[in-house]
Amino acid sequence: MNESRYEPIIGLEIHAELMTDAKMFCGCRVVDSVTAPPNSAVCPVCLGMPGMLPVINKRAVAFALRVALALNCTINQDNVFARKNYFYPDLPKSYQISQYELPLGINGWLDVTLENGATKRIGIRRVHLEEDTGKLTHLEGGGSLVDFNRSGVPLLEIVSEPVIHSGEEARAYGMKIRQILRYLGVNSGDMEKGVFRVEPNISLRPRGTTPFGKRTELKNLNSFRTLAEGTAYEIERQQKVLDAGKEVVQETRGWHEGRRETFSQRRKEEAEDYRYFPEPDLPPLHITEPLIQAAQAALPELPDARIGRYQAVGLSAYEARVIAEDKEVADWFDAAAALYPAPKTIANWLINELFRLLNEHKLSITQQKATPAMLVELLGLVERQTINNNSAKEVLGEMVVTGKAAAAIVAARGLAQISDEGHIRRVVEQVLADNADQVAAYHNGKVQLRGWFVGQIMRQLKGQGNPALVNQLLDEYL
Ligand code: ADP
Ligand code: ZN
Ligand code: MG
Repeated sequence: MNESRYEPIIGLEIHAELMTDAKMFCGCRVVDSVTAPPNSAVCPVCLGMPGMLPVINKRAVAFALRVALALNCTINQDNVFARKNYFYPDLPKSYQISQYELPLGINGWLDVTLENGATKRIGIRRVHLEEDTGKLTHLEGGGSLVDFNRSGVPLLEIVSEPVIHSGEEARAYGMKIRQILRYLGVNSGDMEKGVFRVEPNISLRPRGTTPFGKRTELKNLNSFRTLAEGTAYEIERQQKVLDAGKEVVQETRGWHEGRRETFSQRRKEEAEDYRYFPEPDLPPLHITEPLIQAAQAALPELPDARIGRYQAVGLSAYEARVIAEDKEVADWFDAAAALYPAPKTIANWLINELFRLLNEHKLSITQQKATPAMLVELLGLVERQTINNNSAKEVLGEMVVTGKAAAAIVAARGLAQISDEGHIRRVVEQVLADNADQVAAYHNGKVQLRGWFVGQIMRQLKGQGNPALVNQLLDEYL
């Protein structure tokens, strides 16, 4: 794309449902969109009955505040909710309560690591609170069904500056935002279920010029792969339009998963079409200083800070990144590292062994049963040479599934290392006596046979011989 005479300009709108118990403006529960029976979590407020009054969900405000602070935004302490008016069957009030002129947070930023390892700072224009709409299901034979369970679910909108230049950058930024929302515990990041939705705005301008071109907004991308792919597709499509001497139409386009292309959905409304005006049923929302301080205090250590801390204790950039990727994994690592003074050893066991086991059993770190303390106990057994490394891996494999203590598994499986000198001595003598030819060959210069002797001895000891002792005694006899 670099050789093109156009420069792609991309800004992302991200919508994230907040994991509160109740909806944004009523007491209805927030329920799972897939498993809950349709229209089972609704009331006159979220069904848009005339005369019903909304009440602001304080927890949603606290969650939104956390996100705005984590994204380095300036907080507008006086917030005003607005009505965004439009007609659509999934919007029973015919307006959405949103924030317009005074959003909760403005002028934030986020540092994103790109594939080539470079860091790019992406400006965040605004972070604001609104409510989600209902959900339509279009029937094959015509007609549609509407489910209002989602109507009124707290929704956070995060709008970037138009400073992204490729599908890959869009993806890196989107993934970082999702990671932070997960760290903050405010959103699950499940794109398939639509609780985290990324919509890129895309335009092209001739390289070296300033004014932006006409943009399209891309919807129904249900994975980061389709975000990168759909964005790249749209850049190429617009380029062809411009190369043909035509104009890009400002519109909303959908991503067609089967055909892997974008298609026109509707002509883009301008802001004035929404007839925004302050919501008369809600008082202005004042964000007090104590509220900001409480949100600040509730922020966990964020991914970048954690990666820095891990590298400072000797982990590689790769190790630091994969451990910090998921907060639960990072918490597990921290708990183990607090009990055992070798963070690098813990990182090795976590990345090379535990991750493999999680993958094999399709378990998350919180579902598997080995606690940090249990791993540390296991490492102690290796350190004291009660068991060797291979046995320790076997023990961890069982621990993850059964949650049994290392010592119990070692005893039950008879894995304890053999360090009885007399026992090993007898085996060494036996092996050398049984292989007199090889011993002679060894003494005639075939020194590589030494490894073979070790193998034979270990086989007799069922792999549980103390390696140092085996080597020492073998040397003595050879
Ligand atoms: P809306 O789409 O609701 O009118 P905004 O004007 O806030 O909202 O813009 C939405 C997003 O589009 C922002 O992320 C912004 O950076 C981006 N954007 C604005 N103009 C352009 C453009 N010409 N090309 C690409 N992205 C743009
Ligand atoms: Zn309700
Ligand atoms: Mg938009």
